[in-house]
Amino acid sequence: MRKLTANLSLIIALSFVAGCKNSALTYPLGAPKIDSGFGSYIGVNGGARMAAHQGIDIIGVDGQEILAVADGIVLEATVERCWGPTIAVDHGNSIDNSKIIALYGHVDEMLVGEGDLVKRGQIIARLGNNQDKFECIWGVRHLHFQIGQKYRDRSNKGTYWGHSYFLEDGNKGIDPHLYWADGPNVVTCYESNRQYKNGTITYPVPCG
Ligand SMILES: [Zn+2]
Repeated sequence: MRKLTANLSLIIALSFVAGCKNSALTYPLGAPKIDSGFGSYIGVNGGARMAAHQGIDIIGVDGQEILAVADGIVLEATVERCWGPTIAVDHGNSIDNSKIIALYGHVDEMLVGEGDLVKRGQIIARLGNNQDKFECIWGVRHLHFQIGQKYRDRSNKGTYWGHSYFLEDGNKGIDPHLYWADGPNVVTCYESNRQYKNGTITYPVPCG
């Protein structure tokens, strides 16, 4: 019995480590790493989260280019009071027929606006120096990328804030690692000379 308990503890400990470090992920050379992964309870500043992370966080330099992960249409480009400048894009359907409503949160300069058509790999925003101006950026300049299913349009935003301002299912984010163009859990950098399958995504930042 003691051995079983010990084994269970080990399994739980290993799962915890895997969840926190995204150790199952493969990154191409030069791809900036995800600092707080999908489902993580630890934020980019090392602090504890109140709830599981609904997206992925990638730390970047001032002026960091943010790329569209697929072709799509911009639903909204708004300065949300906690998240700061955020772009919501409808990227159509995924390979498993889920919607890909993507949030590109905590950016600074927004280079697209509502109704704009975007192409995969297009620079749609840049990170800036606003990490101390908006509470939800937690003092660390980074992109928060999240996928939802149901966009909350202007008619029913009410007093919602954060991911709930943009998505009706903001607390049920979809794991973006399902949809990388090179396969599940294989982070795929955008390359301008490649063709990508519809319903897949490429990394929202350039790889060096
Ligand atoms: Zn985040």
